Parts: sequence; C-alpha cells; structure tokens
Amino acid sequence: MLTICGTGLAGLRVAGELRERGYSGPIRAIDREGVPPYDRPPLTKELFGNYRRPLSAEGLGQLSELVDEVIHGTVSRVEGTTVCVRNTSGIGIGEETIGEESNQNEEVAYQSDSVVLALGADARNMFPGALTIRTREDADKLRAVTGPVTIVGGSWLGCELSSSFVQEGHEVTLVEIADSILPTLGKEASAPIARALEDMGVTITNTLPEKHGTLVEATGAIQNTLGLDLTTDGWGRTTMPNVYAVGDCATLTTGPTWGHWNTALHQASRVAEAIMTDPTDEPLPLVSDVFSTIANKELLFIGRAEGTPVTLEDGSRTLWILNDQLTGGFTIDRPADGVALRRNLGHPLTPDAAADPRPLKKILRG
Ligand SMILES: Cc1cc2nc3c(=O)[nH]c(=O)nc-3n(C[C@H](O)[C@H](O)[C@H](O)COP(=O)(O)OP(=O)(O)OC[C@H]3O[C@@H](n4cnc5c(N)ncnc54)[C@H](O)[C@@H]3O)c2cc1C
Repeated sequence: MLTICGTGLAGLRVAGELRERGYSGPIRAIDREGVPPYDRPPLTKELFGNYRRPLSAEGLGQLSELVDEVIHGTVSRVEGTTVCVRNTSGIGIGEETIGEESNQNEEVAYQSDSVVLALGADARNMFPGALTIRTREDADKLRAVTGPVTIVGGSWLGCELSSSFVQEGHEVTLVEIADSILPTLGKEASAPIARALEDMGVTITNTLPEKHGTLVEATGAIQNTLGLDLTTDGWGRTTMPNVYAVGDCATLTTGPTWGHWNTALHQASRVAEAIMTDPTDEPLPLVSDVFSTIANKELLFIGRAEGTPVTLEDGSRTLWILNDQLTGGFTIDRPADGVALRRNLGHPLTPDAAADPRPLKKILRG
C-alpha cells in the first residue's frame, strides 16, 4: 500500500503520474479539506470570478478514480511508513483507532509500504485578525469582505489580491516593506506592475495605515512538515526509507525554492518515477518557472533574478546576466518569450542582445 498524505496539486499528480506509468498497486490518499483537489492560483487571480476550479477540470485527473481509498482527516504524525490520521471530519475514519478519544480526536494508524508527503504549506498569519489566502474557504471569506482593504505583503499573492479587489471596486492599500513590490524581481523589473496597479487605483506604501479597513495578510507561507526533515534529492526521496516528499512541503537540495505550481507538478512526476524505478542517478535540477496575472497582465518569471538586470525600455522584459550568461527572465504579456527563456538559461548573452526588444527567439539560440 502506498499512502499519499495531502490531496492538493502534488498529491493528486503523484497518483496520476503513477497510474500513467502503469502502477497497479493500491493507493490511499489522506484528504484534510474534504473537497476534491482544486487549483489554488485562481483563488487570488479570479477571486471574484471563476475561482472554484477543480484540478480534474484542468485535465489533471480525478482523485477518486486514481486512488483506491480516500481517508478524510488530518495527518498528525508520520513514523517511518506508519501514518497517523486524526479525524477532523466528524465521521469515523477506520477501525484501528488508537488512544482513548473518539470522534473528533480519534486517531487511526495506517501501515504502508511507502509514504508520499504532499502536505503543502499554510498561510503565514502574523497579524491577529487578518484574513489570509491559501484555501477555498479563505477565498470565500475574502469574497465576503466589504469596504476598504489593506493587503500586507507585496509579493505575488498580495499583488494579485490587490488587483482583484481594486477591480471589484474596493479601496485598496498594498503594504510592502521592501523597496519595491515583487521584491524577488527588484525595483527595475517590477516597476511596470507597480505603475499598472497604481493606475488602477491601488495605493502602494511601506507602512501600515492607521485606518486600514479589512486587513488581508499575504506575507508568505509556512511549509507543513509535521516536524520532519523533508529535504529531498531530485527524485523526492527524503532521508527516511520509502518516504518521499513533494510540492510545497518539500525542500529540494538543488533546484528551485518551494512555493510554485510548476515545481510541484514536475516534482510529482519525478517522485512517481522514483517509486517505480528507484533510479540511482540524480536528475537535472528543475528550473524555477512562475506564472502570475496582475493588473490584467500575464507574467512569467523563469530562472533566477541573479546578476545584472537588463530591462527593455517599455518594461515588458527583464533579463538577468551573470558571468555573461542568462540566469533568468521576467516577462509581461510576452508569453512566447517564455519558451526561448526556458531553453536558453545558462547560455551566453550580452547586455546589448538583452536590450534588443525583438522576440527572444530571434535573439537567442532556441
Ligand atoms: C492563492 C494562491 C495562488 C497561487 N498562485 C500561483 C501562481 O500564480 N503561480 C505559481 O507558480 N504558483 C502559485 N501558487 C502556488 C501553488 O498553488 C502551490 O505551489 C501548489 O499548490 C503546491 O501544491 P502542493 O500540493 O504542494 O500544496 P497544496 O496545493 O497546498 O496542497 C497540500 C494539501 O495538503 C493538505 N494538508 C496539509 N496538511 C495536512 C495534514 N496534516 N494532513 C492532511 N492533509 C494536509 C492541505 O489541506 C492541501 O489540501 C499559488 C498558491 C496560492 C495559495
């Protein structure tokens, strides 16, 4: 028996990837949220639109068809390949109840041959009373907000929320303590997005206003690790035998930082491969590949913002060059550049070529 803990993008895709590779063994999934796996990016970008999007509708698989049983509850402990699940659903979860409690506190131990931890992350909440965004329930609460909104945290999610709220007619203040929004990109690359948000009516500041209306916190997330070391190799293997970690809960020894959709998707494929074949080589590191929609603009950030940034005059593209090589790129409404970027990271690039406004494929090799 294989037990997958967590039924978000990564957990669902490990099951999908295994079945696509012909894995016929039994799979059990532990689901904390009690709803079929759904997509998180629309929760901010389409908060007032089509925000409830099951991952099955994106062609990513139907959990109930991929696994043999879904257990509704919260994983409380993992000891080797034994997974303890606490009943958080109000209905019984199994027969091997351990401990004295029952119902809400009932804990059941499930033995497995292998375990995949796909527990994601929870929203950081440092400001008492602030609303946060991670789940569909959080989005439901945000949709019900009336009046002015102050969003703390000007990274991707904070900017996406600002854009959604201001377009819904709210007075919006966005608070970012760094010297620019989207701090990973730096001031030069993120300036067009700051301008676009301000043009829509968002006030960007670095101090929390005294009168702030509803406070929404978008200051990042905290990995759900259950206190375990979920550092993995490129195949998602932890140091615990037959225990894998994938998606936002996992920290790769080499490759992108956690917290991004495409990383979770690609890691899931690698974990499935590792479960099937137990490879001995280390795969090529994954590349950070982030998408976002802010102020009706489609954004891509691929690779790393390391080295000297070269931004086009109209601000629609920034490329970073380190040691005469392309380390990363950020594009605004230039989806085609993404393909060339992915292919050419690490390839030679001069500042003059980076400043050429033509499509990247004309400038670069690919
Ligand atoms: C609002 C929002 C917008 C985003 N937008 C983008 C974007 O535009 N671009 C991008 O690249 N990335 C984006 N991301 C990040 C992306 O969605 C995540 O990287 C991705 O969802 C990670 O998948 P995951 O399966 O690892 O984690 P999750 O999707 O968080 O799934 C983890 C699941 O495990 C469950 N779980 C947690 N603890 C337990 C437990 N103890 N027991 C049982 N189950 C548990 C959780 O409830 C959850 O269902 C966004 C994230 C959010 C929250």
